[in-house]
Amino acid sequence: MAANFGWNYPAGFTGRELAIAGPDWEGETKVSCTCGFSGEVEAWGYSNVLHWTCPECAEDRAEEPECDGPDDPDPSDYYHLEP
Ligand SMILES: [Zn+2]
Repeated sequence: MAANFGWNYPAGFTGRELAIAGPDWEGETKVSCTCGFSGEVEAWGYSNVLHWTCPECAEDRAEEPECDGPDDPDPSDYYHLEP
């Protein structure tokens, strides 16, 4: 969570914008692509969407979190953030 050091952001900005605060999360995560690629890639998350580029077909992907069923009932776990 980015701290607000008393700055006033321009109208329409909250300080949580990607350009200001950066991604919510960055790191390696397991993904699978429509081209058949499956494995770990460098990825980043912002606004509950995971962004990554497939190393196999070079497609830029943006994915909503998925629920893996009863073992993963909370989609916010998708980024694997520490509590
Ligand atoms: Zn691919």
